[in-house]
Amino acid sequence: MIPVLQAESVILDLVHPLDAERDVEVVSLHAAVGRILANPITSNLDFPHWDNSAMDGYAVQFTDVEHACPENPVTLEVVEEIPAGCQPQKTLLPGQAARILTGSMMPAGADTVVMQEVTRRQGNRVIILAAPQPQQFVRKQGEFYRAGTTLLPAGTRLTAAAIATLAAAQCCSIPVYRRPRVAILSTGNELVAPEQPLQPGQIVDSNQYALAALVAQSGAEPICLGIVPDEPAKLAGAIAQALTICDLVISSGGVSVGDYDYVEQILTSLGATLHIRSVAIKPGKPLTVASVQASVQESSSPGTVLYFGLPGNPVSALVTFWRFVQPALRKLSGLPAGWRPQFVKAKSCAALRADPKRESYLWGHLRVVNGEYEFSPAPGGHSSGNLINLALTNCLAVVPQGEGAIAAEEVIQVMQLQAL
Ligand code: AMP
Ligand code: MG
Repeated sequence: MIPVLQAESVILDLVHPLDAERDVEVVSLHAAVGRILANPITSNLDFPHWDNSAMDGYAVQFTDVEHACPENPVTLEVVEEIPAGCQPQKTLLPGQAARILTGSMMPAGADTVVMQEVTRRQGNRVIILAAPQPQQFVRKQGEFYRAGTTLLPAGTRLTAAAIATLAAAQCCSIPVYRRPRVAILSTGNELVAPEQPLQPGQIVDSNQYALAALVAQSGAEPICLGIVPDEPAKLAGAIAQALTICDLVISSGGVSVGDYDYVEQILTSLGATLHIRSVAIKPGKPLTVASVQASVQESSSPGTVLYFGLPGNPVSALVTFWRFVQPALRKLSGLPAGWRPQFVKAKSCAALRADPKRESYLWGHLRVVNGEYEFSPAPGGHSSGNLINLALTNCLAVVPQGEGAIAAEEVIQVMQLQAL
């Protein structure tokens, strides 16, 4: 049984991120949402594209208006109107102004914009009532970005703002990492699919759905391989097949010390290297992590396929996914950093009990009260089989190994559960 942090580093060290040349697909702007840039993006457009106005007002020569004030206003001739989207036709001479609107191109000869609020219009003249700063309200060409430099680096997760930036740069074909392929299989003779009638003693395979949801939320592609019985030959066939079609395999069940727990021995027989067999975490102790050298077949990715054998208990499967699989998927998918879960400090609203032999994860609700985080454990039992009270939670509170109890009001680390 190894400590949680050691397991986390062993796992992250095993992950080889997708390749920035081989594992790339080109997608449209709409399809790029949430994806990860595989190559840096460079634009041949400056931002702003040209000098333009940041205000509705008048484009002027600063030297004409630098002493303007209500007692000594300056009158200029308005020689042109420049709505946004139009190219100025005239070069401004001393004593002249151009009506200009936010985003409009600055006319040649002008260097400053006077905001409308400090002007008065009289026919084809404008009276300037206050002196601006030199070059005020002019957005200079290239002030925000210089053509030819990196606009967005490789590894950027494409948020709305990043997509908008790419659109503004007229970059419509975006090179992103392909989604990692993740095979999911559920092991157990007792399992039935949710739509099948339930016979006494049978258990519905909820893990397949939980894990597929988590994989998809992590930006990867779930490949659901269904239920495999606890029969070594069938299990070996299913695992061997899974290893050829994906970057990472997740199975649930069959990794404990029961009579029907075959996953580890099958992995060994398939030539896998076992890296982790059990972790000091509750729930989730029987966690198997293995790696297999992938045969370079048509649909498989060359290199190593990681295998996560999660415990079958529904809560254990979810907790071990959040704690160990999700960071691995983040690294695999091409993110350059930020793989580990996010922890915040929160005050516990209740006393908590835990098994001191392991690092315990207690599910509950995190909220902000008077600017501070507060954690309330989910009502009801914190058994690893109690999936039901996990459903309305948003975090896991961590009770460190060696500590059996947390007093109410004590500050603890809480892991936020979020996609990506
Ligand atoms: P195991 O890890 O195979 O010993 O399973 C532990 C417990 O989790 C048993 O009660 C199983 O019936 C249950 N279980 C295993 N796999 C699943 C699954 N895919 N969905 C829901 N429960 C499961
Ligand atoms: Mg089982």
